[in-house]
Amino acid sequence: MTDTVQHWRDGEIFAGGSGQTAPVTNPATGEITARVALADVADARQVIDAAAAAYPEWRDTSLAKRTQVLFKFRELLDERKPELAEIITREHGKVRSDALGEVSRGQEVVEFACGIPHLLKGGFTENASTKVDVYSVRQPLGPVAIISPFNFPAMVPMWFFPLAIAAGNTVVLKPSEKDPSASLWLAALWAEAGLPAGVFNVLQGDKTAVDELLTNPKIKSVSFVGSTPIAQYVYATGTAAGKRVQALGGAKNHAVVLPDADLDLAADAMVNAGFGSAGERCMAISACVAVGPIADDLVAKIAERTRTLKTGDGTGAVDMGPLVTEAHRDKVASYIDAGEAAGAKIVVDGRTVEADGGAAGFWLGPTLIDEVTPDMSVYTDEIFGPVLSVVRVESYDEALELVNANPFGNGTAIFTNDGGAARRFQNEVEVGMVGINVPIPVPMAYYSFGGWKNSLFGDTHAHGTEGVHFFTRAKAVTSRWLDPSHGGIELGFPQNV
Ligand code: NAD
Repeated sequence: MTDTVQHWRDGEIFAGGSGQTAPVTNPATGEITARVALADVADARQVIDAAAAAYPEWRDTSLAKRTQVLFKFRELLDERKPELAEIITREHGKVRSDALGEVSRGQEVVEFACGIPHLLKGGFTENASTKVDVYSVRQPLGPVAIISPFNFPAMVPMWFFPLAIAAGNTVVLKPSEKDPSASLWLAALWAEAGLPAGVFNVLQGDKTAVDELLTNPKIKSVSFVGSTPIAQYVYATGTAAGKRVQALGGAKNHAVVLPDADLDLAADAMVNAGFGSAGERCMAISACVAVGPIADDLVAKIAERTRTLKTGDGTGAVDMGPLVTEAHRDKVASYIDAGEAAGAKIVVDGRTVEADGGAAGFWLGPTLIDEVTPDMSVYTDEIFGPVLSVVRVESYDEALELVNANPFGNGTAIFTNDGGAARRFQNEVEVGMVGINVPIPVPMAYYSFGGWKNSLFGDTHAHGTEGVHFFTRAKAVTSRWLDPSHGGIELGFPQNV
């Protein structure tokens, strides 16, 4: 008998009444470790109602008190993050150090949100018109929804909920059904930190739960992260229902290596960013664009490093864990097959990996493919696995054209010792996040995270000041206190005097 991962409503576990569940597996063993509740519409409404009921009081709670709860949450998270990392490794498969890194990057957003009194300050203009003052305030939206993907079960929700809560909203988080337990751990931590019941809620489920969040009039905004087709659907459906939506989608990140680059640094970076978290990162490098005569050398250096990587159970001393599900592993492997059939050269083949983990684990070793051309499916599609393709081009211009022609625009990097080339790239590339000799340019919490083109639908990126704006709306107040000189009837449009 396995446990069921339930919802969290009004400060406690909520079983819901759907009776539907889905299996949760440990990808390193292939075992079903739990089942996750799948909400029906009635369950979803009960969770949303709890967030709506808690809103008026939380909205009116002073910034001083809200900030105290955030600080407490930050302290508890910092003390206890190894527990959360363990849960992530068990359900996602990523190695422990990577799981801890994910939590730390989420914690940075909590730390940023602790400064909410400063971030919410409006403007004030005295005497805008004679004895008339104008000022602006930013107010919370109401109950907001966060819908997150499997690959960062803690960090991606934390891109959003610290700021949403700090700004006075209440939250319904719908985590991925593949690794749902981290969300409940976070909910319990909020309760321990003193967050009033109903401010942070978790709704477990699939499309049924998502559709209710997208259309229920009590939900005022949706922050979604996942694959591009679902992001497009979420954006279209949520905005049609009158909600503010930010929908972050898939990626195909290129790293351009110029002939003057430090090839050892570049090769290290390709391996770290290509195979970290088994390539299941939206900022993973999946296409290495080798410019000019360095291609052979670069491929040799990447191959040498790739062969040293150990794949296995993330609880042990390995570099890379399994993929999240068997179906996903098979799909990623099928792209390697397709690339090979189309004439690409498999330099390191992860399909034959001997993993240090359960026999039924969802294993696929790091795979390096050379001579990939832009028409091959291994290049055109987001693979989301440990597969690094090398595309050879002749010039900087050809590399830039390739990156800009790609429908995704999440992250990119350039490796060079030429400051002028790097500066040109930063200016010309049509991608939201750019690294210069940095392979995974995930912005700090006080900047905003988000891609361009098919990597983000909506106009606001996550966290940083854009996150504060997303979770608040502006109000401008024009105020005059009793002054007889401004009395009298005047039907003309107000003019400033
Ligand atoms: P996914 O799109 O399958 O799922 C994301 C969320 O949508 C989950 O909560 C899931 O339950 C829900 N969902 C799935 N199918 C749905 C449907 N038909 N209707 C409504 N909701 C549905 O994504 P995933 O496989 O969990 O995550 C991997 C994807 O997320 C990759 O494409 C990756 O690039 C992307 N991602 C992007 C970013 C970014 O910042 N741009 C960050 C992390 C992950």
